[in-house]
Amino acid sequence: MALERRDFLLGGGAAALAASTMTSPVPASAQAQQPPTTWQRETDVVVIGSGAAGLPAAIIAKEAGLSVVLVEAEQDIGGHAITSYGNVPLGGGTSAQKKHGIADSPDLVFQDLTDWSVVQPSGFPDYRYNDREIIRAFADNSALAFEWLVAHGVVFVDEALDAFGGISVGNSVLREMHAAVMNWPMVQTGKPADPAIQATLFSGNGLMRPLEVAARKAGVQILLQHRMTAIYREAPTSGRVLGIAVDTKGTKLNIRATKAVIVATGGSTGNVNFRRMFDPRLTEEYCGLAGMPWSDQDASGELASMAIGASLWGLYNQTGEFGSNLTKPGTIGCQYNYVNLRWMPGSPVFDRARASGLLVTNWQDVILVNMIGKRFYDETGGQFTANNYKSLDPYVPASYLNAKNVKYNPNNFINAALAGIGDAHNGGGPIWAIFDADAVAREDWTPKPPNVDIDAGFFFSADTLADLAKKIVMKYQRVPMPPENLEAAVARYNSFVDASKDEDFGKPKPLHKIAKPPFHAAWATPVVHDTRAGLRIDTNCRVVDMNGQVIPGLYCGGESAGGFSEHGLARAICQGYIAGKHAARPT
Ligand SMILES: Cc1cc2nc3c(=O)[nH]c(=O)nc-3n(C[C@H](O)[C@H](O)[C@H](O)COP(=O)(O)OP(=O)(O)OC[C@H]3O[C@@H](n4cnc5c(N)ncnc54)[C@H](O)[C@@H]3O)c2cc1C
Repeated sequence: MALERRDFLLGGGAAALAASTMTSPVPASAQAQQPPTTWQRETDVVVIGSGAAGLPAAIIAKEAGLSVVLVEAEQDIGGHAITSYGNVPLGGGTSAQKKHGIADSPDLVFQDLTDWSVVQPSGFPDYRYNDREIIRAFADNSALAFEWLVAHGVVFVDEALDAFGGISVGNSVLREMHAAVMNWPMVQTGKPADPAIQATLFSGNGLMRPLEVAARKAGVQILLQHRMTAIYREAPTSGRVLGIAVDTKGTKLNIRATKAVIVATGGSTGNVNFRRMFDPRLTEEYCGLAGMPWSDQDASGELASMAIGASLWGLYNQTGEFGSNLTKPGTIGCQYNYVNLRWMPGSPVFDRARASGLLVTNWQDVILVNMIGKRFYDETGGQFTANNYKSLDPYVPASYLNAKNVKYNPNNFINAALAGIGDAHNGGGPIWAIFDADAVAREDWTPKPPNVDIDAGFFFSADTLADLAKKIVMKYQRVPMPPENLEAAVARYNSFVDASKDEDFGKPKPLHKIAKPPFHAAWATPVVHDTRAGLRIDTNCRVVDMNGQVIPGLYCGGESAGGFSEHGLARAICQGYIAGKHAARPT
């Protein structure tokens, strides 16, 4: 019997999800706030956010002799940076590059990251729309920032450089080093790594915990669970920035900053309305933001700065189809399913992550269907690619030959997943991995909690495909999955296995039929990840307004800053470094 619409909306999965995942506080106000008459705290510099940009900025300003308050919304420091793999592509002539005989220079970094001719097989350019001034500042400070990390306790794996993980590092030379986890407890598991691999395992824990120690040692006041809700300026869109408002467990505080406020809030892709300015398809169901639930990217830094006149910048970098702005999941059956992050039961945030997911080692073991039970692409297809050392080979700087030598391959898995079901709604809706008992055995999965999230509706099982389709009830499944669609999709796929040929989507040699009950449906919806567009900044990381004027006293770095298409840590660390220096000694 088909589900009634009312049952559908009130299903247990939907209710559980509402209770368990909709707890994000409202981000900062997008309206300018009247400056307060009383301040509960006063300091020289306020840094907002304790991630890859915020901690370096705070330490540098403090070591330069200023008083620094760092506010962090979450219960612990680190932001996405601590959840990261710690792959750090800072170059330009670092000691690590020199040790391994790699000749690099600021000029070469600049040339790589502004090369108009570098394009993806999809035709999308990686660096064409980078702001030249911002990249020049990065190029000039990149090696300095690397040495600064080493001087502040970060241990890098003592191996040759590579281009392993920090994608978009340019073409000319290897630049990537990896922070070693050492003995720090890992946020993913709650415990340190095996001592045998502590000096060789890459991890953001090994990047951020030493910086936390350095910050505390220097005397930075770190206020956890203090969420910035507004930035105050003398007048709504003119005058100096005066300080910030924070919310701490329901209490409002005003913190005055006599010299600078540094926005290091980490981006905007967790804010549905904000991210849809760049891509209207990115509706609510893309709820598995990489790095959550450790920390969000709720656009609060952008909104609070825009409320006092700040401009956004480099917006193409958020919509261009390259890199990891949107990714294919690596695990299935859980909400937070980014390929490089698994939350394990010992993690301090496991109560919010709720499940670790089933790690997919071979996409031949599942089919992927959309909300109405239809396949949409070759399941082995991947996410967008990005420029990397030797990804263009031969590489001829600033030459049309680069584009000419790229073999066109649109790689549209993500686009197909986001295409929707042909009605007038935006968003592709949930994507479900469908598989059977044989796939469970092949993958060696245990499809029950804590591996899968049944209570919140990210995993379902049944003895028939029709029953499975009927069971899929959860917040983001806005229409029921027609059982006949799922049955037809599986029957057709099974016929492709018999024929060793996928007539619909060209999956290379479909290998396994889906036939042995129980059958399972596991959440496999694409993941939002990087923010590459944000506040307009100048070469000193000062925020610039809609008239092209610096907003006195306001700085920004990292994923909340725009104009720079490069994934991750290097840009954030380097901009934190630049912002901290300039806030301490404005020139
Ligand atoms: C799983 C994963 C793996 C990654 N691996 C790599 C990698 O190997 N190499 C690489 O280069 N990049 C990697 N990245 C990306 C990299 O971690 C980020 O680009 C980088 O951390 C961004 O730095 P940030 O300072 O801008 O933001 P974050 O590091 O996220 O820090 C922002 C901080 O601001 C806080 N905050 C936000 N709003 C407020 C507010 N209103 N008030 C107070 N505090 C607030 C947040 O809670 C957070 O702690 C990875 C990301 C993830 C999620």
